[in-house]
Amino acid sequence: MRAQRERAYAKINLHLECISRRDDGFHDIKSVMYSLSLSDDVTVALGASGKMGIRVVLEGSTRLPTDKRNLVYIAAEKFMNRLGIKAEVTVKLEKRIPVAAGLGGGSSDAAATLRALNRLFARPFTEKALLSIAAEIGSDVPYCLLGGAALCEGRGERITRLSTNRRIYAVIAVANEYVSTPMAYSALDSAYSDFDGSVPYTADSEYSALINYLGGGELPERLYNVFESVVLASCPGAAEIKEKLIALGARISLMSGSGPSVFGIFDTEDAAKCAESELR
Ligand code: ATP
Repeated sequence: MRAQRERAYAKINLHLECISRRDDGFHDIKSVMYSLSLSDDVTVALGASGKMGIRVVLEGSTRLPTDKRNLVYIAAEKFMNRLGIKAEVTVKLEKRIPVAAGLGGGSSDAAATLRALNRLFARPFTEKALLSIAAEIGSDVPYCLLGGAALCEGRGERITRLSTNRRIYAVIAVANEYVSTPMAYSALDSAYSDFDGSVPYTADSEYSALINYLGGGELPERLYNVFESVVLASCPGAAEIKEKLIALGARISLMSGSGPSVFGIFDTEDAAKCAESELR
């Protein structure tokens, strides 16, 4: 049996704005994503028992489906179909990233599965080809394939890497609340008249300030996530975490993705660790 282990890193959105609603129902966004050190472990193994097919094995106590509803299953299936080979593929998944939190865990697991399979089969696909498989799985999967800091546009598949040596000390907390990403987009459509040209706010200057920060400049006065305007009102726990992070010394606090996770940025690692233990 040959196996390949990959880290699947979580992400936060340091900036997230919605530009328009497209005819296909998806939304065009402009987002700056940033990889965290928090990660899941994905180990893909190719067996030799002759039992062709895909199996997902969950380690630990996280409860998730192990069938076609799991994004690692979908990733393995799409990869093998594109390759046109049948094999015995086992994907072992150890979750540490909170599920459905806006931290991109599932997308990152899918991306890690693609990377592992491409290694195991001696790199049959170029980065460009892997990115196109990733885009079929989900909007955040192409970014998760590359990681680091990046500007993501379109549905998320148009990626511009941002070079940064900025180390960000962030504390992230997830309220015990549920946000459905499709429902959050519907709430945006209602709030902003289906993005019919009447988006009341564009965040160009805040986006530029953030790019300057990633390049070594000052932390901007605030960061922007359009979803805060429609999610925080119905997620009091997330709103409270946002306030608490600021009270504990965070320079800035923002919801990630469509929530409900919220992160706070601190000046030093020590300040972040103190805030983390207080918050716990
Ligand atoms: P994003 O920020 O990309 O919108 P998220 O962090 O909000 O993602 P995920 O943790 O990726 O959300 O989970 C979203 C949904 O996907 C969950 O409801 C879960 O059932 C499903 N899912 C499928 N596969 C996975 C996986 N490997 N890890 C986590 N969730 C998964």
